[in-house]
Amino acid sequence: MNYKKNITKKIGTLTILLILILTSSCTGKLSRQNKDSKPIITVTIEPQIYFTKAIAGDKFIVNSLIPKGVSPESFDPTPQQLVTLEKSIAYLRIGYINFELAWKNKINSISPKMKIFDTSKGIDLIANEYEKIAVNKISTDTTKKSNNKTSINPHIWTSAANALIIAKNTYKALCTLDKNDSTYYHYRYDSICKHIIHIDSIVKKILSSSQEPHSFLVYHPTLSYFARDYKLHQISIEEEGKEPSTLRLKELIEISKEEKVQVVLVQPEFDKRNAEIIAKQLGATIKTIDPLNEQWDKEMINIANSLK
Ligand SMILES: [Zn+2]
Repeated sequence: MNYKKNITKKIGTLTILLILILTSSCTGKLSRQNKDSKPIITVTIEPQIYFTKAIAGDKFIVNSLIPKGVSPESFDPTPQQLVTLEKSIAYLRIGYINFELAWKNKINSISPKMKIFDTSKGIDLIANEYEKIAVNKISTDTTKKSNNKTSINPHIWTSAANALIIAKNTYKALCTLDKNDSTYYHYRYDSICKHIIHIDSIVKKILSSSQEPHSFLVYHPTLSYFARDYKLHQISIEEEGKEPSTLRLKELIEISKEEKVQVVLVQPEFDKRNAEIIAKQLGATIKTIDPLNEQWDKEMINIANSLK
């Protein structure tokens, strides 16, 4: 008897559910409207989309200001990109990319209501590679250095330790923007942190399987934080953001021979010619990395595998 009653009850519930599903699919127009009216968050680079979406879930639309394939170093927003930015309720900076510093005040005036968050807050910053003397000293003196626009290496996201801080800053920003869903964001923040820690352990495992030497060449110094985390030595080919001089090329080849460099990394947005010249002279392998890839986790593993 009870069993039969339960079954009828269940069928009843299922019918109600089915009716609900059918009616909601009939009002597709309404749900599309809801989707379109989701608030927009703009971030600077695509890897930030990865962290922001991971925590924000379906509550926001996340846009990257710098499109795929464009070098952040030479980026200047177009009027159209500024319109999208204007529509955003918040802008999440990565921190120290050239145009972010140059546009800081302008962005404020374009949209005074838009909230701006700096996701690099709390990160132990590194000076640019070419300032060799300052590199080891800067970490103790970040506050002073952060006022010096040109000397901060902006590639903070190529580090699992930094990714945890970026995620934390993003989580805090989301809670500020939408207090009602803070439990939802906290749950998702927790799981992205676990994932970042997991990726860190995979990277460590890949790198520990390789023997010394731990030095590598890269055209543009995007792996300063990665190198710090995993005790590697990054040597950048670029000279103060420009093509290396003949003298520098000579020096680079000498240093690389001394340090037994076996890998030369190139990035899609930068010059390959000089990297190829050096790699040929060293008998080193050229590998392509893509630190601006939205799939941050996959790229961290790709970078590790390239250095193996
Ligand atoms: Zn860069």
